[in-house]
Amino acid sequence: MSVIVLAEHTQGVFKKKTLELVQYAAGIAQSMGTTTTAVVLGDATDAEMQGLGQYGANKVLQVADSRLDTLNARAYSKALIAAAQKEGAKVVVAPHDVTGKAVAPRVAAALKAGMVAGAVSAPDLSKGFVVKKNVFAGKAFAFVNVTSDVKVITLMPNTFQVKAGAGSASVEKLDVAFEDKDFSVKVKAVNKVTGEVPLSEAELVVSGGRGMKGPENWGILEDLAHELGAALACSRPVADSHWRPHHEHVGQTGGTIRPNLYIAVGISGAIQHLAGVNGSKTIVVINKDPEAPFFKAADYGVVGDALEIVPKLTEAVKKFKANH
Ligand SMILES: Cc1cc2nc3c(=O)[nH]c(=O)nc-3n(C[C@H](O)[C@H](O)[C@H](O)COP(=O)(O)OP(=O)(O)OC[C@H]3O[C@@H](n4cnc5c(N)ncnc54)[C@H](O)[C@@H]3O)c2cc1C
Repeated sequence: MSVIVLAEHTQGVFKKKTLELVQYAAGIAQSMGTTTTAVVLGDATDAEMQGLGQYGANKVLQVADSRLDTLNARAYSKALIAAAQKEGAKVVVAPHDVTGKAVAPRVAAALKAGMVAGAVSAPDLSKGFVVKKNVFAGKAFAFVNVTSDVKVITLMPNTFQVKAGAGSASVEKLDVAFEDKDFSVKVKAVNKVTGEVPLSEAELVVSGGRGMKGPENWGILEDLAHELGAALACSRPVADSHWRPHHEHVGQTGGTIRPNLYIAVGISGAIQHLAGVNGSKTIVVINKDPEAPFFKAADYGVVGDALEIVPKLTEAVKKFKANH
């Protein structure tokens, strides 16, 4: 009996959201009086995997098949199911991202497990196995009691602060008998995002909506982001209109972020947008419409034309930096 957690990585580098997930799984294991096994798919060094011990993993099971270096839902699920069966897992934890959304339901079906998608709390074991999750795009919460023997949870990224401890995990290899049909989806190319700051990790985010009028005006947001050392984000229609790349889209159907500062420029503040950003510590809204719904969620608001205000803000940041 243990808790297993899918530990995503990019060539052995475990991002903040994976460390958060391992820490979350370890918290569940601790409250259940059991251990945490991280499952690593593809190539990573022992030293990189042992580091997961700092976030609570007792053991790492590595399926060291380089075909797993890129997401393949069928093969990933098979590997995770094999790991769960080997460990006699009672709880399987995966991220609520593209990978987890593709893999966790398959794993839950195979293990006849109840599943909570998009959890935002640790399970409350005093009432059974009750997990809090977002519903209606974050407008409300549901408390789901999972009564099956095995449980599968996907955790909303950026729900908890990550804190490194002192542990080190042992590493074991796991052989999985893959068949060719497990890799029937072939990844031909991977386009890496090479922004200044990766959005999912960013503490400061400058985000633009349809109020920016067109991609030709994004230079002023890029200048502001550059001065602040911030990442860029956008609303969904902006990505749908190809003004900005899709990986910058935040909200219910995009990324979920929790930066210290979120500056929303020309974004109305629809509930589906707020679902991805309303965990931000401080929200600044720049919008020409004083009735824009985003102002209700804002800590600071500026009513006016973004095309005039943003360059002034950038100048103010430059001046501030020069004097400090
Ligand atoms: C199932 C579903 C899922 C969705 N998922 C997402 C999601 O993940 N993320 C997301 O963002 N949306 C999502 N949406 C869409 C969402 O409902 C909104 O339509 C969208 O967020 C609006 O984007 P916007 O604020 O950029 O544009 P608009 O609603 O057009 O708002 C533009 C804003 O800019 C302001 N403005 C205009 N000109 C200026 C100016 N010169 N200076 C300053 N302000 C100006 C306007 O006052 C307005 O408030 C989803 C919708 C559905 C139905």
